[in-house]
Amino acid sequence: NVFLKAVDIHKSYTQGTGELEILRGISMEIKEGEALAILGSSGAGKSTLLHIMGTLDRPDRGELFCEGRNILAMDDEELSRFRNSEMGFVFQFHHLLSEFSAVENVMIPCRVAGESTKAAQEKAMHLLNFMGLAERANHYPSQLSGGELQRVAIARALVRHPKVLFADEPTGNLDSHTSLKIQDLFFRLKEEMKLALVIVTHDLTFATRFPKVYRMKDGQWA
Ligand code: ADP
Ligand code: ADP
Repeated sequence: NVFLKAVDIHKSYTQGTGELEILRGISMEIKEGEALAILGSSGAGKSTLLHIMGTLDRPDRGELFCEGRNILAMDDEELSRFRNSEMGFVFQFHHLLSEFSAVENVMIPCRVAGESTKAAQEKAMHLLNFMGLAERANHYPSQLSGGELQRVAIARALVRHPKVLFADEPTGNLDSHTSLKIQDLFFRLKEEMKLALVIVTHDLTFATRFPKVYRMKDGQWA
């Protein structure tokens, strides 16, 4: 079953005096519960594609369907509600809020969605526990290691049980030992939560662990 389908996506950015075409009519499908990696050199357009698949950015041209529904027809408010319920995001840097503890950071998406503090806290603790971070729950970001920070960021991305997790270079800022632990965690979470997992990386050892690897070059599949 196809969950998300992008068709003939075009995207350009103004650079200096000209327009640079970053995505040149690229299409892709994400099936329910599948795991895929997108590989490609810097500047190939991987992040741009991920942002468009994740509805964080709109294409200049092309269509995006979720379970058959044309989601780019939604206005920004509707689209953001849709995104918050169906999608999770992890980036190279954790982007946690420094004035909140780990568990409070993880609770944020639930609170934004109107869940009670108690419900949000239960869900957040359940996930932190699964990730081996229960005893770090009340620590602040400045008290956590790089691997712990990224795990908290992953918990925050998953706390509302999205159908797909998008991760853009999620191990790019970690040493190789910590990177391996985070890679394992992604695959454990994918199984546990029946997620689709879409990872952008230039780390070959991470990419080759995926059943499907797409290579991108100059805004097209290579
Ligand atoms: P990748 O993730 O493969 O490294 P990106 O999608 O990040 O590639 O970027 C592709 C190209 O698009 C780069 O040359 C980058 O400078 C350009 N780009 C990305 N975002 C913007 C933006 N908001 N404004 C202008 N240029 C951008
Ligand atoms: P991980 O493998 O999960 O990244 P580490 O082995 O790097 O964890 O760190 C072990 C412990 O040391 C962590 O639980 C963390 O609390 C503590 N620690 C590591 N780095 C820092 C840091 N920069 N500041 C505060 N505590 C740290």
